[in-house]
Amino acid sequence: MEFIDLKAQQQRIKQRIDARIANVLTHGQYIMGPEVSELEHALAKFTGARHCITCASGTTALELVLSAWGIGTGDAVFTTPLSFIATAEAIAKTGATPIFVDIDPNSYNIDPASLNAAVMAVSCRNPSRHPLPRIALHKQLTPRAVVLVDLFGNPVDYDPILEVAHAYNLLTLEDGAQSFGSMYKGRHCCNCGCDAATTSFFPAKPLGCYGDGGAVFCNDRELANIVDSLRYHGRINAQNKNDNIRLGYNGRIDTLQAAILLAKLEIFPEEIMLRAKAGQRYTELLLPYRNSPGIVTPTVTAEGDSIWAQYTIKLPQGVDRSALMKKLREQGIPTAINYPKGMHTQGCLRYLGYTPHDFPHVQEVCSRVLSLPMHPYLTEDDQKTIVDVLIQSIEWREYT
Ligand SMILES: *Cc1c(COP(=O)(O)O)cnc(C)c1O
Repeated sequence: MEFIDLKAQQQRIKQRIDARIANVLTHGQYIMGPEVSELEHALAKFTGARHCITCASGTTALELVLSAWGIGTGDAVFTTPLSFIATAEAIAKTGATPIFVDIDPNSYNIDPASLNAAVMAVSCRNPSRHPLPRIALHKQLTPRAVVLVDLFGNPVDYDPILEVAHAYNLLTLEDGAQSFGSMYKGRHCCNCGCDAATTSFFPAKPLGCYGDGGAVFCNDRELANIVDSLRYHGRINAQNKNDNIRLGYNGRIDTLQAAILLAKLEIFPEEIMLRAKAGQRYTELLLPYRNSPGIVTPTVTAEGDSIWAQYTIKLPQGVDRSALMKKLREQGIPTAINYPKGMHTQGCLRYLGYTPHDFPHVQEVCSRVLSLPMHPYLTEDDQKTIVDVLIQSIEWREYT
């Protein structure tokens, strides 16, 4: 059994992928070939966003937006402590200070009341309202932006969070690396009402290529133009390649990756349905074990649909998670921990001066979560086996 079965998907579309790749090898435009703009039009159409600018990765996408906004030293950028490290890394690399905001213990996404408290705490340099990094106490930082992560594919509840963000004039960025294909109140993720959104095409993401890739989405033409320029060394535009008006990045997607994504996009709507089914089946199969032994299934935001980038359960308190994972692995079931620690406790961000106890909800989630195999081609039989073995293994731990 695979944690994410990319081979099953490839078997379905091998011919289309081969044909797409052969086409690129024939025209030979490996950088910014025609597939790149074809993909951008297709992705914009899919999400409903006016502009899509593809780029080298989901991390680059975050960097491009923050850079286009001129975020840097002296700025405070708010985000969740519970995400892949790239979210905070992109913020910190601009010179801005990442300010971590507590999560909602049910959705695991950023909590609106905590965002409000965190902005107030930064403005008044008062850590009694909300935990703050050390620098925010002795230097007046300017609240500039908030980066919202749709964790595991579950959309952030945007209405209340955007209300808080707008009250403080914060720029809003949706990190939709895990939620491409998810919906919130009839809108596609990466077009949920933020000033900009980003996604990743890392192979394991819901829409993945065969290498690195990412995209920026927005509805503002001026921002789109700046991002388009920044990903290509700050050139003025495609007609003036060697006229560089800003310091940018080598941040483009490869034409080959764009070609692969175009083939994958054709079956993506069907995969969204298959993923929804698999997610629902897990929840149904796990339902009898809610009270005993006490497995917590994921909460999806009201009026939202998750693409289930991860199907992540919370184990009963006291279960030896590493022993459980080993037992599952011995029976051929791969699992993963997303994430073993909050970003506020990562070594690379130690200079911020947070302590593990600053975010007790995050600490609790990190110590108990377990991600189960998840992909569109997961069969009902596989899922039954996974749940059976999981439950038996937990009991085996507790009663022997
Ligand atoms: C994967 C991921 C990223 C980074 O994407 P890459 O394409 O690997 O650079 C950023 N944010 C989140 C939430 C992610 O899951």
